[in-house]
Amino acid sequence: MKQEPGPIPEADLHCHTTASDGLLTPGELVKLASRRGLKAIAITDHDTISGWSEAEKVGSKSDTIILRGLELNTVWDNKEVHVLGYQMDGKSGIMRERLLELQQSRFDRIKEILNRLEQIDIKIPIGDVLEYAQGESVGRPHVARALVKHRHVINNQEAFVRYLGLGAPAYVPRFKLDTVEGIRFIRESKGIAVLAHPGLQGLKEDTIASWVKEGLQGLEIIHSDHNSIDQEFYSKIALKYDLIMTGGSDFHGANKPNVPLGKWGVSLDVVWQIKGLEN
Ligand SMILES: [Zn+2]
Ligand SMILES: [Zn+2]
Repeated sequence: MKQEPGPIPEADLHCHTTASDGLLTPGELVKLASRRGLKAIAITDHDTISGWSEAEKVGSKSDTIILRGLELNTVWDNKEVHVLGYQMDGKSGIMRERLLELQQSRFDRIKEILNRLEQIDIKIPIGDVLEYAQGESVGRPHVARALVKHRHVINNQEAFVRYLGLGAPAYVPRFKLDTVEGIRFIRESKGIAVLAHPGLQGLKEDTIASWVKEGLQGLEIIHSDHNSIDQEFYSKIALKYDLIMTGGSDFHGANKPNVPLGKWGVSLDVVWQIKGLEN
């Protein structure tokens, strides 16, 4: 059962925009946050920071504090583990280079999928796929939509079963960033590294302790998919290892209708703690 939070928190530190898979533009998100009375939000798109500048521009005209965030999709022990980064140095050459690599790997994967489709006489121009990709996070669902458009399948589901899914003729595995590499990447970019929704993956204390040694600085305690047991379990670990306790809704707009902006979050103190660790 989901934990129902009390009054609206001051800060929602986990929000997606159209720069990845959210439905609101960064500017629309900031305006909504301000209307809801949030004092701070963090822009945490998947593998991209392209939403920052618009959010900061709109944020500068309101009282809402904008944290520059990112959510890295990493892999540990065959599990998808998400690492949040806060307040990275946007000018850091290392960070720009690494993010470009991640985007390039998404693009290369799509090209390889299209090559494989061509080998079985299905020709899809890459432009048709990119047209469906919002922002920079191009992926298999966009290929599926192009397959529908070209009448090779009737819907996305059939596209995955017949061509794109695991074991299908045009399946290409995703490039995987290791969780420790993800943590180091955030730290090298002068960011604060926080483990996102650890309860979703059921991550254990010894695993988290090993990541603390690698530079992990916080745990996301409050999250729309965490229940009160998760909150209690990870709060204890955070206290034991002196980690920042963050929280946010994981807002995606109408893509996740049961997760309204600001329903989950933390007090403004956490924002100051994050800012206090900036170097
Ligand atoms: Zn996540
Ligand atoms: Zn997220």
